[in-house]
Amino acid sequence: MLGTLARWLRILGFDVYFADKSEDDEDILERAEKEKRIILTRDRYLVAMARRRNLKALEIRSRDLDEQIRTVTKLYPVKEDKVLSRCSICNTPLMRIGKDGVRGRVPDGVYLRHEEFWYCKECKRIYWKGSHWEKMRERIERVRPRSS
Ligand SMILES: [Zn+2]
Repeated sequence: MLGTLARWLRILGFDVYFADKSEDDEDILERAEKEKRIILTRDRYLVAMARRRNLKALEIRSRDLDEQIRTVTKLYPVKEDKVLSRCSICNTPLMRIGKDGVRGRVPDGVYLRHEEFWYCKECKRIYWKGSHWEKMRERIERVRPRSS
């Protein structure tokens, strides 16, 4: 249910494991314990179970993506140097790839206009700071916690 939030948190540089349907509450709790992860969930019951075991858990109540991101980043601030360091689809850390390495693998216009590219060795996606990146920056600015 929180798939969009998971992708956004990866874009922001967080290491996010997204539990699949085959995993039950016990699997999730065990993984969180073993990998020292914080559980983000809509399930209040799961939050209570996690806390009982001294695991960190955060209930996500809002359906609004900006609000969800704010809820997380208020407690766990974004590290600016980690932004765009992970594949948003599979969570693998991205590698820088030289311009030569992307020739013919990205649209010609993109190849001509951009100098910096990142590569996911797991799912083979190539990232660059295109127009979608501008929209991302806008959202990141929008959800940034204001110091008050
Ligand atoms: Zn990937």
